[in-house]
Amino acid sequence: MQKYTDLYDVLIIGAGPAGSNAAISYKKLNPTLKVGLIDKAVFPRDKSCGDAIGPGVISALKRFNNEHILENEPQVVSTTLYGPENIGIQNYIPEVKNKEDSIVYVIPRIDLDNRILNLAKDLEVDVFEGYSFVAFEEDIDKKLVVEIKNENHNLKFGTKILIGADGANSRVRKQLNVKKNSDWHKAIAIRAYINSPNYLEIFKERSLMFEINVSAEKGYAWAFPSKGNLLNIGIGVPLSIFKKEKLDINELLQDFIEQLEKRGVVVENVRDEKSYLLPFASSRPKITQKVNVTLIGDASSMINPMSGEGIFYGMESGYLLAKNTHNLLDSPDLNKGIRSYEKAFSKRFKKHYLSCALARLVLQSPFMTKRLLKVASNDQDTIDFVVELLFDEAYLTFGEVVKIMYKFLLPSKLLFLVSKN
Ligand SMILES: Cc1cc2nc3c(=O)[nH]c(=O)nc-3n(C[C@H](O)[C@H](O)[C@H](O)COP(=O)(O)OP(=O)(O)OC[C@H]3O[C@@H](n4cnc5c(N)ncnc54)[C@H](O)[C@@H]3O)c2cc1C
Repeated sequence: MQKYTDLYDVLIIGAGPAGSNAAISYKKLNPTLKVGLIDKAVFPRDKSCGDAIGPGVISALKRFNNEHILENEPQVVSTTLYGPENIGIQNYIPEVKNKEDSIVYVIPRIDLDNRILNLAKDLEVDVFEGYSFVAFEEDIDKKLVVEIKNENHNLKFGTKILIGADGANSRVRKQLNVKKNSDWHKAIAIRAYINSPNYLEIFKERSLMFEINVSAEKGYAWAFPSKGNLLNIGIGVPLSIFKKEKLDINELLQDFIEQLEKRGVVVENVRDEKSYLLPFASSRPKITQKVNVTLIGDASSMINPMSGEGIFYGMESGYLLAKNTHNLLDSPDLNKGIRSYEKAFSKRFKKHYLSCALARLVLQSPFMTKRLLKVASNDQDTIDFVVELLFDEAYLTFGEVVKIMYKFLLPSKLLFLVSKN
């Protein structure tokens, strides 16, 4: 590869929440850094997603006083879970540890990602939209040369660190020779937008609806209220099951729409159906090449295997990477800083991911889902814990496993009495 035109301190591929928040974090920690952010799309761009962001994202935005991008958005205040045989529970969103806000917002990604990217642009990050990553190469002096292209131009930039934030099909990850997640550690999901004039009336308030093991066996569906009568709906299943049972993602969505209608929800103007893959954090990649290149967000398989949430972990990984490397960019220890970021991320989320992977196994069994919802409908602690796994960094301790197993084994009537006391 030839010499480059410009030398960056930090170059990031992918301007989703992970990449943009990494750019913001580097600039906030050291405004003199030259940071470049490259995306193959031109923003605002759509992304297949449930669009739900919770206390973690709010706190990540608050870190640098950026929560104003959520102003005027309606707040979601509760969750409604349905399981097989129509067992349903509605619950407020419990207070979560170490976070100020027990609120969820549902903001279409075409808006949310653009707002986060604009925060990076305001900090004078150089943004290249409509350019795809081609390849990187290491120079003799350990600098990286990165090639990007659009229809008309091929550009080459030098950088001290290269960050792959290029999502579930990351090409940076591919060039690092890091394998994709196996089908067991991935899901496929489809989202669509609808209008529903009576959703809020049926659920009595702005409630996130989850349906586990009903429209899709071993999978889950959602209906999330956004502004006005706009709803984001969707359904996902583990990729291994999707392939084994030769399922059709559009048919699954149709089945879920029928379920919604059976619950009395009026479904109008189904549109913008879009499916994509979710690489779960139950299988995190290890980078073995000793170059100053690393991965964040979906490119690094950070999605919660129970809920499918990934925006929070992606944004937090961008911050943790910047925190661990922003002052080492000119040091021979930069690679140690990258390893410290990987360790810090694992330390913070390992137990949480493990608990969510365990919960995923429970929720893949219709029998266990029914039992869990029965226990949860009689026991506030259990439902709070399930909702915390969905929205926070909660994890199961040994004591909690014993407590939950005991509750699983108690007959429902007895559990009701025990929970009352
Ligand atoms: C159906 C579905 C529902 C979901 N629901 C939720 C939810 O409700 N809440 C939640 O928190 N998470 C949800 N997720 C997960 C969430 O969408 C991801 O975890 C999140 O988008 C990860 O952010 P990211 O920045 O890592 O990647 P992305 O948001 O995917 O951004 C990657 C960026 O890289 C760019 N890019 C890709 N390749 C290249 C290239 N070669 N060159 C240059 N640029 C490139 C893309 O254009 C894109 O802008 C859902 C996912 C799916 C599929």
